[in-house]
Amino acid sequence: MHFQNSYMSELMERVIKRNPAEPEFHQAVWEVLQSLAPVVTAHPKYINEGILESLVEPERIIKFRVPWEDDNGKVQINRGFRVQFSSAIGPYKGGLRFHPSVYEGIIKFLAFEQIFKNSLTGLPIGGGKGGSDFDPKGKSDNEVRRFCQSFMSELFKYIGPDTDVPAGDIGVGGREIGYMFGQYKRLSNEFTGVLTGKGLTYGGSLVRTEATGYGLCYFTDNMLKDVGKGFDGATVAISGSGNVAIYACEKATQLGGKVVTLSDSNGFIYDKNGVDLSCVKQLKEVERKRIREYLVSHPHAEYYEGCSGVWQIPCDIALPCATQNEIDEASAKALVKNGCFAVAEGSNMSSTPQAVEVFQTAGVLYAPGKAANAGGVATSALEMSQNSMRYFWSFEEVDCKLRTIMTDLYRNVSGAAAEYGVPGDFVTGANVAGFLKVADSMLAYGLV
Ligand code: NDP
Repeated sequence: MHFQNSYMSELMERVIKRNPAEPEFHQAVWEVLQSLAPVVTAHPKYINEGILESLVEPERIIKFRVPWEDDNGKVQINRGFRVQFSSAIGPYKGGLRFHPSVYEGIIKFLAFEQIFKNSLTGLPIGGGKGGSDFDPKGKSDNEVRRFCQSFMSELFKYIGPDTDVPAGDIGVGGREIGYMFGQYKRLSNEFTGVLTGKGLTYGGSLVRTEATGYGLCYFTDNMLKDVGKGFDGATVAISGSGNVAIYACEKATQLGGKVVTLSDSNGFIYDKNGVDLSCVKQLKEVERKRIREYLVSHPHAEYYEGCSGVWQIPCDIALPCATQNEIDEASAKALVKNGCFAVAEGSNMSSTPQAVEVFQTAGVLYAPGKAANAGGVATSALEMSQNSMRYFWSFEEVDCKLRTIMTDLYRNVSGAAAEYGVPGDFVTGANVAGFLKVADSMLAYGLV
């Protein structure tokens, strides 16, 4: 984690010291500080007014015990978190992740990324993230319900439609949002848009389910068009088989691409004829089964244990949609060697810094998650707007707004990269463009 700029070096050292044993958070901060060096050189006010120091310190961290009872009547204890990182440009906004790997450092990294992502959408939303080390996999509906109700019994004290509006992430989909929204409504005696990703019968927005995956493809399509390419006729490798992966697969296919892979945390499928998405939706969204079951109805497809092998499959476009750091240096080299010309991240911080360097050195178009996957939170903000208005927009209206947001976002990111002398460097573009709006708001408030 080396810097040319001594102020940035010292700040990074302080972040590491104050947040020990949180490598994902260090990685996320490092990447942003790296990109901001030219901005603070040109505008020393951001250093002089202490904006960067404030920005790397969360406004508030809430950490709590979540007791619940399993189906055998045994008491189980999990940990809950909500990191309210920045409310500079709007109420905290960001998903909840339920996964056994969750600890404070993961939530902090995600909340930090969310600040810039939310700023890039052009909508008035601040950065936050939360979750628990609870693993919904293998739990009955009743166990998930009891856990969600207990989780919300504590979290409801700290959130609100104008304060903090959580949503879904890994392990949190429509079922979990329903249980949590029901509990919030009961405890607060209010029907307000305090969570997004709600069901359509109780305040959800059309397109929210599809938004992250669709938005990822809209961003990628803009990026490809700028160099005279597109999805049409391209072979696409996608990882994951959850919410983001499924709808990225759907949109990439609609735009003329052939998606040949999907994965879960056990392994991946390779279907050279193109993935049959209706089968995957049935397996994952309805039956909650493993991706290997795809071969039962599609025996010509191949299944391999382990996740990283998915990046060894030759493709033109790679859309990682599973989890952080899922593409390491070796996987990035394999993608480049096999002719991949574009990588756009559906998952947050999908690629290690070494992998990003491989892509950028090889001239691969590379879009970081905080830009490419912003369609989910943007549509969540549209859900908030509809809730405030007590109104619903049609699928076409929301989809059209999402497409416009992702096109504007792409132009904003690519414009910022060009302005700071690194055209095509979407990492710098996203960090700079996301930072400026937040930093200028913080300056306007005085000491924050
Ligand atoms: P889901 O829980 O719906 O799906 C996650 C998928 O990734 C599953 O197939 C899961 O496999 C796999 N996965 C999760 N963890 C790992 C792991 N450690 N190693 C390998 N595979 C793993 O989550 P989402 O689709 O909602 O989220 C996917 C990514 O997209 C995350 O990084 C999330 O932060 C990001 N994102 C999500 C948004 C949203 O709107 N949902 C918005 C913006 C970003 P398995 O079932 O075996 O666990």
